[in-house]
Amino acid sequence: MFEGRIARFNAPGEPFEIRRVCIESVGAGEILIKVHRSNICGSDLHAWHGAFATRGLGGAMPTVLGHEMVGSIAAFGDGDELREDSNGEPLAVGSRVVFPYFFPCHHCRNCLAGRRVSCLKMGMAMLGDASKPPYFVGGYGDYFLLPAGAVLYKVPDNLSDELASGVNCALSQVMYGLERVELSLGENVVIQGAGGLGLFAAAVAKARGAKMVIVLDSVPERLELAKSFGADETVSLSEQPEVSSRVRLVREMTDGLGAEVVVEVVGDPSVVPEGLKMLAQGGRYLEIGNINMGRTYEADPSRLVMANKTIVGVSLYEPHLLSNAISFLTSHQHSLPMDRLVATSFPLEEINTAFEMADRRSIVRASIVV
Ligand SMILES: [Zn+2]
Ligand SMILES: [Zn+2]
Repeated sequence: MFEGRIARFNAPGEPFEIRRVCIESVGAGEILIKVHRSNICGSDLHAWHGAFATRGLGGAMPTVLGHEMVGSIAAFGDGDELREDSNGEPLAVGSRVVFPYFFPCHHCRNCLAGRRVSCLKMGMAMLGDASKPPYFVGGYGDYFLLPAGAVLYKVPDNLSDELASGVNCALSQVMYGLERVELSLGENVVIQGAGGLGLFAAAVAKARGAKMVIVLDSVPERLELAKSFGADETVSLSEQPEVSSRVRLVREMTDGLGAEVVVEVVGDPSVVPEGLKMLAQGGRYLEIGNINMGRTYEADPSRLVMANKTIVGVSLYEPHLLSNAISFLTSHQHSLPMDRLVATSFPLEEINTAFEMADRRSIVRASIVV
């Protein structure tokens, strides 16, 4: 029997409710994770506001939010013999692990075609019903129950919980995005937005051999941080308030060509037309940030046609990339200023304060420690 707390999310706008719940056993193939920490990501905040409806994804209410988590194995399912991670590394009770927060079925036509991001029977953390067993359906709780068939990876001993907690979201996401747009050696990249995703995008773009990485944002500290994450040039929106002058600057920085890849990680549709103008002939626009439905921008499709430009929308990532993301993070943890991305920690009981502070952006990033 496993007893622990969850921070139950009853409805948007309502405070989280700390409840004690208990499950009798762990089913065959399932793995019970003792959560160490769960970050508060932008999509958790959107869900909290009701802007990103977990119900729209087939989710239940009440539920438990939280998906960027790291933990250790508390228990294996009854009778399970196979105790290794998705790389064949042995696992035991106590092993520290990370896992994608979504669970492709591995059997539908899209999974079989190698597109697990488009699984037709996708399960996900934060969508389960927290009013009935197994209760532990999101990261903000003492435990999280990993469903049978989930991909998981052991965390190397030299990678801290603080750094590992976000690896299954932002970093894996941008790695997958840059794969989807096939960023190649020597290409120019523009990144719209220098939040966590933008900073990782700069670092990964450089690691993939980008020639020039240009980052746009309005906050001077973020632009300075972008440089230490690999940006060659930055463009300040406050210094360059005109779209036309920003587009001209990017052209100048790229020998008049524009960028082969532009990455949108602002999360505002109004930046899309600007980004499309910054693309080179044959360029690819990587759309990651806009996750709130119903918001639009005006578009001139001839600009895509005449210049052979492509827009690629990317959500989630192929699960094996999480392993690559762990390797990337482990090998770059001392060469990149990762410590500046580490979140402020709050105990589970203070989750409401943590959400309010993260929402007001009075702290860069918040994490719930359990
Ligand atoms: Zn996230
Ligand atoms: Zn599937």
